[in-house]
Amino acid sequence: MSATHLLPCVCGRKLPVSTTQAGEVVPCECGASLTVPNLSELSKLELASAAPAGRKRRKRPWSKRQGWILLGAFVVAGAAGLLAFLYLTRPRLADIESLRPIQVWSVWQDLRRGPDRNLSLAEQRFLEMLGIHRVWQTALLAAAVAGIILMALAYAIPDPQSLHRADSRPREPRI
Ligand SMILES: [Zn+2]
Repeated sequence: MSATHLLPCVCGRKLPVSTTQAGEVVPCECGASLTVPNLSELSKLELASAAPAGRKRRKRPWSKRQGWILLGAFVVAGAAGLLAFLYLTRPRLADIESLRPIQVWSVWQDLRRGPDRNLSLAEQRFLEMLGIHRVWQTALLAAAVAGIILMALAYAIPDPQSLHRADSRPREPRI
């Protein structure tokens, strides 16, 4: 592990030096050459670790929002995939069973009789499957819409944690 310390120069600048650089000569912007002291001397110097820690802390509220957006995207993708599957496996009258010519004839006869006709078993099954498909279709569309709303909300609403942090920090007044 190597910590970064700030080595002061006579010009007032502070050079970031790593503990692995102990004994080396580093040039300052002013032209002076500074010798990096040994480890025990280096450890007495100011640590230069404030910047990366601050950057890490600012990142956290975003990852939570990104998680919600990702979840929404998964819901939308899943619903879209299932809707595509549902479309491909949608019931068609001929798919109910492999109909023999005589059965096709009877189905056709049934269909000609109009809406008040007595439904054959194959037709009843077809309508039942169609109903189940419609329920699934509606549910999946609702899930997709919910996923989109979730994504939009996660994108639009700032994380409460980051809001709290922003309030505790001195800031310019918002318009
Ligand atoms: Zn200097």
